[in-house]
Amino acid sequence: MTQIAFIGLGNMGGGMCSNLAKAGHDVRAFDLNAEAISRVVAQGAVAAGSVAEAVAGAEAVVTMLPAGKHVKSVYLGEDGILSAAKPGTVFLDCSTIAVEVARETAKAATDAGFLMVDAPVSGGTAAADAGTLTFMVGGTEAAFERAKPILEVMGQKIVHAGASGNGQVAKIANNMLLGISMIGTAEAFNLAEKLGLDAQTFFDISSTASGQCWSMTSYCPAPGPVQTAPSNRDYQPGFAVDMMLKDLRLAADAANAADVQSPLGAMAEKIYAGLSESGQGGLDFSGVILRLKNEI
Ligand code: NAD
Repeated sequence: MTQIAFIGLGNMGGGMCSNLAKAGHDVRAFDLNAEAISRVVAQGAVAAGSVAEAVAGAEAVVTMLPAGKHVKSVYLGEDGILSAAKPGTVFLDCSTIAVEVARETAKAATDAGFLMVDAPVSGGTAAADAGTLTFMVGGTEAAFERAKPILEVMGQKIVHAGASGNGQVAKIANNMLLGISMIGTAEAFNLAEKLGLDAQTFFDISSTASGQCWSMTSYCPAPGPVQTAPSNRDYQPGFAVDMMLKDLRLAADAANAADVQSPLGAMAEKIYAGLSESGQGGLDFSGVILRLKNEI
């Protein structure tokens, strides 16, 4: 069994860390929030008093932090992971952060003699708890091979997307498409309804025609056709507007830096930002259909 340090025990990290402990790994857990540590200790992890204490002696370090600035400070800061880990340790950053920050951090780690992958996830807290996440992984073949058995405990599908940063590329490009396709799907259902076609009839036709997409068939924003969709539980998340907005902003920054045109990504960002600014950041992102109907 592997000695693993786990830093960042929030909504996602809590379940992921617990799954590693329950699988029998020796997990040393740290978070700034003491309650978050207690929750994973109840599942078999050992509490650490600092990043350095969690990392001392670890063969692998997993991080699940809110944003790039936290990742930079936890890895590169004073008493951070790089200064506390033993040579040859593999680092797995599962946070969703900018491609550039992921590449800079991995370069600093490899220059210092460590292995590192970016391994952002698809799937929400339910998948984190159940150990059924999808991991999109960027890094060398050697780093991926070391990270894979650990990721397999926390996820169902592990994809090596290529070099360092490519996990983040896959994540933000996919979520940009998702944000756009949800708005398009919502527009189509609103138009059909306004012109006299009920949601179920439109779904039956379009879900097997050329308008078909995941936002329609798995997560339909109009209540009715897809039982498990947040539209059937007052748009409780699921995947909140603020989470989608974060990913669309990362995609927009990356598109600007790479000089790639992304007019629909920019429009989607504007629409979700409007929802967030009006106090609807906690709503499921498919609730955008209500905004397009002027209901919220
Ligand atoms: P969260 O805010 O619930 O958890 C983050 C945790 O990190 C908190 O417990 C916080 O105390 C801790 N933390 C922050 N700075 C720290 C530091 N310096 N040292 C130790 N601990 C520190 O966030 P989350 O929902 O678990 O999301 C984590 C990451 O996963 C984010 O990058 C998010 O974009 C991504 N993500 C989230 C979801 C989701 O559905 N929640 C889905 C996919 C990806």
